[in-house]
Amino acid sequence: MADRSDRVVIVGGGPGGYEAAHVAANAGADVTIVDTDGPGGSAVLTDCVPSKTLIATSELMGELAGSAELGVSFLDHEGDAATAIRVDLGRVNARVKQLAADQSADIERRLERDGVRIVRGRGRLDGPQRVVAELAGGGTETLDADAVLIATGAAPRVLDSALPDGERILTWEQVYDITDVPEKVVVVGSGVTGAEFASAYLSLGIDVTLVSSRDRVLPGEDADAAAVLEEVLTRRGMNVLSRSRMESVTRDGDVVTVRLTDGTEVECSHCVLALGSVPNTADLGLAEAGVLVDDGGFVRVDRVSRTTARGVYAAGDCTGVLMLASVAAMQGRIAMSHHLGDAVAPLDLKKVSSNVFTSPEIATVGWTQKAVDAGEIAAETVLLPLSGNPRAKMQGVRDGFVKLLCRPGTGIVVGGVVVGPRASELIHPVAVAVGESLTADQLASVFTVYPSMSGSIAEAARRLHRSDPAARRLP
Ligand SMILES: Cc1cc2nc3c(=O)[nH]c(=O)nc-3n(C[C@H](O)[C@H](O)[C@H](O)COP(=O)(O)OP(=O)(O)OC[C@H]3O[C@@H](n4cnc5c(N)ncnc54)[C@H](O)[C@@H]3O)c2cc1C
Repeated sequence: MADRSDRVVIVGGGPGGYEAAHVAANAGADVTIVDTDGPGGSAVLTDCVPSKTLIATSELMGELAGSAELGVSFLDHEGDAATAIRVDLGRVNARVKQLAADQSADIERRLERDGVRIVRGRGRLDGPQRVVAELAGGGTETLDADAVLIATGAAPRVLDSALPDGERILTWEQVYDITDVPEKVVVVGSGVTGAEFASAYLSLGIDVTLVSSRDRVLPGEDADAAAVLEEVLTRRGMNVLSRSRMESVTRDGDVVTVRLTDGTEVECSHCVLALGSVPNTADLGLAEAGVLVDDGGFVRVDRVSRTTARGVYAAGDCTGVLMLASVAAMQGRIAMSHHLGDAVAPLDLKKVSSNVFTSPEIATVGWTQKAVDAGEIAAETVLLPLSGNPRAKMQGVRDGFVKLLCRPGTGIVVGGVVVGPRASELIHPVAVAVGESLTADQLASVFTVYPSMSGSIAEAARRLHRSDPAARRLP
């Protein structure tokens, strides 16, 4: 336990910062967060929470559009249900912003309840044991610290050749100001963020083109999963331009032109740029305090979140370790446990479960097929399409699969991928198996509800028990 003489100053109030603040404050330390934007950070105000709230609407639209197959039609409407529904994007985005603001207020209340002081302003280090805050209301405040946590996050990467204007050429932070449904959206970038927005806008009934510089969408994800997603998106009408590099984005009145390096021009009403993130680490006084950053500007940390300066920790997107809210939060908690002298388990990225919130969703945990194929780990793999699952049939779900990876010999589950509706929820039993080093037989032996999608996870685990490799890719 700490006491109030242990002063912890946290720069940045996103999940990396606020989760750390709870740990330190509950242990008795005197904790101050310096933050520019409001508790919750980008995760709550511009990134995760807003995008997943938008996606909640797009999911509902997608389900309604497919309702005819399940025997549902709309009163006084001839034809497919999909042609009877419209989205009111103004209302959707107003809801998104309200929900984000409410969530930020919730976090602020919880921090205050724990006795955490929140200073609104921009923080920078003045040596390893002092933070100077330029206060939002004017003036500065100097905060001496026994430990400092840098959790300043990251911001959308912007190129001079495609400058956002906040109206029609937009970063992911600016899309919630749109009030009318766009005629045609070009999303540039087919990583997780680009794929999520492209999928969401498509489900909202918008004409979407996705510009992808690689052979396929989601180059960082499981190749089988990415192939399913690309197939579904194109089948549903998305124009996916593979191996296409954006050269520039310009606007003339209401027309936005996305020019590709091969000379092709794609016109649209709105362009969403998803070109990756840059860490918010400039002008923080890091070098002077002895905190090393890498060539990309990310703070160098070890697995207990220590930087190269004694007493200075870093967590979250500013470290570039794995840009997820859950990882930021874990890094922040670990940093504080380390500082307070609590038992601490170093960050283990092989236990992180993550999800791409496209339709279908793609959830992953542990070792990947790519690592297996590259010979980094020996593992047996089973891939079970969801199309054979009874619940999936009842719900009209045809796309998706469960993939499990286990060690040969021991049968310990080391990884998994779920593609399908609510894959983000379905991955949990696999994450438990990976986290607790359970065997495929143990995973298979647990009762699942009949009928249920999770039945496919147990079935995939059962197939790993078989010695016949041919049994491992059956519907
Ligand atoms: C569109 C999108 C969707 C995403 N969806 C998900 C998801 O579904 N699940 C998931 O796990 N992850 C998701 N992520 C990733 C997630 O948002 C980040 O990993 C997470 O926000 C990182 O948290 P953080 O605490 O490092 O930083 P942030 O959340 O970025 O918070 C940092 C805060 O520090 C402030 N700050 C910066 N500099 C200073 C300074 N000098 N002084 C004071 N304050 C400062 C910033 O303004 C910000 O408020 C998504 C990302 C994007 C872009």
